Amino acid sequence: MSVTSALRECHRLRVHLRDLQAEIDRGPRVLQEHQNELEDERKAHRDHHDAIRHLKLKQREDEGTLKQTEVRLAKLEEQLTGISVQKEYAAKELEITHAKEKKGELEDAILATITEIEEKTAAVPAVEDKWKAAQAEFAQFQTEAAERLERMRADTEASRADLAKAEAELPADVKRTYDSVVKAKGPDAFAAAKNRVCQGCRTTMTEQQFTELRRGAFRTCAACGRMQYPAE
Ligand SMILES: [Zn+2]
Repeated sequence: MSVTSALRECHRLRVHLRDLQAEIDRGPRVLQEHQNELEDERKAHRDHHDAIRHLKLKQREDEGTLKQTEVRLAKLEEQLTGISVQKEYAAKELEITHAKEKKGELEDAILATITEIEEKTAAVPAVEDKWKAAQAEFAQFQTEAAERLERMRADTEASRADLAKAEAELPADVKRTYDSVVKAKGPDAFAAAKNRVCQGCRTTMTEQQFTELRRGAFRTCAACGRMQYPAE
């Protein structure tokens, strides 16, 4: 393997290793996002059942109040028959009117609550399906994420071995420069040269420099310092 071929390979592998590491590092955040989505679904499911429970409670309470109102109304109407004073009679009548209004309001409220309970109860199978689907999706995500992580770790190990092999091709004097440029720039320590132009900084080299590079000579870009190799 020529020096430039080795550098091309080192560049590819170091970029690949950086990308792998970035994706491995993203893993916990992606997991957290999926967990948040699952928690949202768990809450939506629980809220639906809570809402039905609260509505049923409200219905019972309103029915109790309605019963009391009816008892009170009957008593008021009974009292009305025994009143002979005009002013008292009018006051009693007003009380009866208010009690009747309250009765009507309660009946309307109970009907509305019953309708809402029926609607929410009818939606329960769909709510259950959605919750089950969310749990299944999360389980599948976990399985796939574990497999992906396993693959990326194996790829990292193999790529590191390949990198070590490519680096072993570099002569000792090149390796010294290589180590210092890599230490400073990481995966950006390399640049392809395409038609004399450094792809790292767009600087053009001379025709003679490009000819030497294509013959496999080691060189760093005069402008950006990257180790160059001819573009394929
Ligand atoms: Zn350059």
